[in-house]
Amino acid sequence: MSHFALQSKNVIVATKNSSNGISKMIAACVEVKNEHIHAIHPYGQTLACEVKDFGEHVIMPGLVDSHVHINEPGRTEWEGFNTATQAAAAGGITALVDMPLNCIPVTTTKAAFQEKLDAVDDKLWVDCGFWGGVIPQNIGDLDELLNAGVLGVKSFLIDSGIEEFPNVEAKDIRAAMPILAKHDVPYLIHAELDCGGFDDAVINEKYDSFLASRPKKWENDAIALMVDMARESKEKGDNCKVHIVHLSSDEALTTIEQAKSEGLRFTAETCPHYLTINSESIPDGKTLFKCCPPIRENQNREHLWQAVTDGRLDFIVSDHSPCTPELKHIDTGDLEKAWGGISALQFGISLIWTEAKERGFNLVDIVRLMSTETAKFAGLDEVKGAIKAGNHADFLVFDPNAEFTITNEMIKHRHNITPYAGRTVTGQVQHTFVRGHHVYQQDQFINAPIGKPLLKGRL
Ligand SMILES: [Zn+2]
Repeated sequence: MSHFALQSKNVIVATKNSSNGISKMIAACVEVKNEHIHAIHPYGQTLACEVKDFGEHVIMPGLVDSHVHINEPGRTEWEGFNTATQAAAAGGITALVDMPLNCIPVTTTKAAFQEKLDAVDDKLWVDCGFWGGVIPQNIGDLDELLNAGVLGVKSFLIDSGIEEFPNVEAKDIRAAMPILAKHDVPYLIHAELDCGGFDDAVINEKYDSFLASRPKKWENDAIALMVDMARESKEKGDNCKVHIVHLSSDEALTTIEQAKSEGLRFTAETCPHYLTINSESIPDGKTLFKCCPPIRENQNREHLWQAVTDGRLDFIVSDHSPCTPELKHIDTGDLEKAWGGISALQFGISLIWTEAKERGFNLVDIVRLMSTETAKFAGLDEVKGAIKAGNHADFLVFDPNAEFTITNEMIKHRHNITPYAGRTVTGQVQHTFVRGHHVYQQDQFINAPIGKPLLKGRL
């Protein structure tokens, strides 16, 4: 176990001077010792250990998903660490970062963070980092929370749907930013700002009525506010990192581009549902498609793909945010009452690859968008996000040509519901290795959960 090698004709390895995170695909043999990548040899190298040959299948660095809602402790009936990390392993994700809500307590204090760490024992099938939260009441606790090892923090600019996680305002952001800058961690922002005028939009079973109730303007205004805040922080000499989670509005892309061009440390992500679903095709009354911000029109989706292509959007994450079927109001189709969130943790790479390959992307691009850049963003890049000597031996073996149809039965996350049931996709995860441990193989989990918490400063 502790000493073996994997080889294939197609291995995506970091290039020699990989500080910029660029990889290439080569025939290679990757030697693993004591959970780490020991060396990269030519394909066919004779070694004094077992060599597993994956032929033409692609060996890639394990994916790093920096946006997952696990909800344990407290709302484990929505999703828990055991089921979520099984779904992750089945999706080729070897490290994920858990959000500070919707668990109870929310991760806004050191004590709450400790409760979460206690809750993960013996449940993790992949490695797991944690975001903390910033709410108006906890700015004084922030330093302590960051010292405890969260990788960064998240705030909402709008009602989060969780009473104990209220949104922040400019004065709170101003107070938090110097502390975050001192710890050199990103400030993740749910960027919707309720600027009125739409409060009375009637939401019924029509998807369009829900879409109209969360207009692009809410995102645009929130992102403009955050650029102002980031600019102010730079002028004060802090230059706090700001990150926009789950971007949906194409109209905000110019603002993001402007922020980057000014030298602000400003990044943004989008998700498979914004890139692979368009609102015109969402049937009315199908609450599984409800998320906030909403999935928008096809033209918007095309613009998001352009931004992924030219780098205005930095990476792709799941924003896996499940709940119980009852809270999703599947039976009633009530879009207003239904919890907003998409469940698809395990299918990210297949969904994205299916679309991306038609748009001229290759698997090296996918590695950058779903592993290297996300690892860097979460501060995990000293051990994750690339196949190179010294890194954790985290791998995904991918068959880029296998076609399959997503069914509810194959789902590994807690509730076997997803908006993608019935969709046929190309590209399938065959094996997943976490720090050299073979954890998943063709629909089966192997041995016991060996995932570890990933704490800042203690990787
Ligand atoms: Zn989220």
